[in-house]
Amino acid sequence: TRVLGIETSCDETAAAVVVRADDGAPAILSNVVLSQIEAHAAFGGVVPEIAARAHVEALDGVIEAALAEAGLALDDIDGIAATAGPGLIGGLIVGLTTAKAIAAAADKPLLPINHLEGHALTARLTDRLDFPYLLLLVSGGHTQLVHVAGLGRYERWASTIDDALGEAFDKTAKLLSLPYPGGPNVEKAALAGNPKRFTFPRPLKGEARPDFSFSGLKTAVRRAATELAPLSESDIADICASFQLAVTETLADRVALSLKRFRKAHPKPKRPALVVAGGVAANAAIRTALEALCEREGFRLVAPPLNLCGDNAAMIAWAGLERLEAGLPEDDALAFARPRWPLDTASEPLFGAGK
Ligand code: ATP
Ligand code: MG
Ligand code: FE
Repeated sequence: TRVLGIETSCDETAAAVVVRADDGAPAILSNVVLSQIEAHAAFGGVVPEIAARAHVEALDGVIEAALAEAGLALDDIDGIAATAGPGLIGGLIVGLTTAKAIAAAADKPLLPINHLEGHALTARLTDRLDFPYLLLLVSGGHTQLVHVAGLGRYERWASTIDDALGEAFDKTAKLLSLPYPGGPNVEKAALAGNPKRFTFPRPLKGEARPDFSFSGLKTAVRRAATELAPLSESDIADICASFQLAVTETLADRVALSLKRFRKAHPKPKRPALVVAGGVAANAAIRTALEALCEREGFRLVAPPLNLCGDNAAMIAWAGLERLEAGLPEDDALAFARPRWPLDTASEPLFGAGK
């Protein structure tokens, strides 16, 4: 099976071709990602109108490049997958409409994909992981623990009650005047810093509910930055290191609760998998902390390679391939772009769903 995937939900214009060979082995034949970072950097964040226009201008070329790199023509493709949500509506419409046109012209099935399902299933592409597993999704817009029971069977066990973790990284970066995008720059600055200099809060740590909270952390960073202004380079490094330590300790505490729940729900597997996915999964300090947690709890950590943590179309193509092979009903009602689309409703019909 070969599937072309298209991703345009945020500030990456991406297209990819993935395949599953007859022996079951999956492979990425091409994975083209055109980042719009430069177009948005001057504004310190993604500007939806600029993003939508950039997708229009770039998408055809990106799709052609993905097919060329895979050495395939449209005729060789079995399905066209595209992100239908959640994300910025302008970009979603560009990608999904393009996919619809290609699918209609080439007479191939259209596979509207939930962007979060793409993140959630990436580990099955890279590690041939079996269901069930526990997913920690940490990205720019989401922070959730999801029980992945099977394809299309997602149960949310915990989520952030305020900011997403990637958002907390980005806001911290902005407060410290580090360049956009914030996450990687906070991580880089933290390398030279003293993580013990500031004691930032560990929101919800020790609480029985399994959720996350990060807005208090951001407020504490703002207070520290204001008190110290003007900030020296080592102040910035120390704040970043202290922020990251607070984040890793909070994450480990929160995730531990859901690992225990997973263990109860699935007593059989000796070493069940915790999958970390989404842009923040690229953070080495977070990976190390999760690694230690998994070691302690008898889990194994599965983390996708760095280039598949952030947004890409290989994950969308892969989710499409899994759905195509499973013969999951292709509901035409799913083929419209929507800015909000919770993962745990990814397989529900959408009539009247304003969620
Ligand atoms: P969503 O997937 O929730 O719709 P998104 O697609 O914008 O949101 P991703 O592209 O998956 O999110 O991830 C981007 C986020 O990851 C940004 O907030 C970015 O700062 C963060 N990020 C990227 N690299 C790192 C890193 N090394 N450390 C921390 N955060 C990082
Ligand atoms: Mg992005
Ligand atoms: Fe994403």
